[in-house]
Amino acid sequence: MARKSSRKTAKQRAIDSALAVVRERRNGRSSTSGSKAGRGAGGKTKKQLEIERIERWLKRNLPPQGSPEWEALCTECGKCCYDKVWRGSRLMLLKSACGYFDTKTNLCKCYEDRFDNEPLCLPVGAEIMQMGGLPEDCPYVQELPGYRPPLVVDKTIDEI
Ligand code: SF4
Ligand code: SF4
Repeated sequence: MARKSSRKTAKQRAIDSALAVVRERRNGRSSTSGSKAGRGAGGKTKKQLEIERIERWLKRNLPPQGSPEWEALCTECGKCCYDKVWRGSRLMLLKSACGYFDTKTNLCKCYEDRFDNEPLCLPVGAEIMQMGGLPEDCPYVQELPGYRPPLVVDKTIDEI
């Protein structure tokens, strides 16, 4: 990719930040920081503890992940496939979408291979819920206590 300036744009910074999270996840770490700050009992970060809380809530309150009953909860609104960027500790949900998203059908064009094709694609589960990446009307998080949905922003990723 050609760069005319060494100064990163907001879009590049957002993508770099998101890719860092994905890399850590694939390396088996769920924290974005290696520091001791924010670590609680047992050396776990607040983020890890929150993911574990959500996992427990999911087990108690929703059908088993991946089961037909779990899949049936999805309304196929497609909102989780729209671009998301961090603003401070909050995600913003934009009006531009992933390149594999079909805006006519609201479906993924490569569903079976989505995690291989798109490194920013996260499965619906505790991790994306902890990040606040699902819209407030998504059935998977509607009843989740303390859930903080993304801010909906009427801009594309190129406009931020
Ligand atoms: S936001 Fe929720 S309901 Fe909508 S497509 Fe994503 S998982 Fe399904
Ligand atoms: S790759 Fe992931 S984010 Fe992109 S359209 Fe498919 S399911 Fe949505």
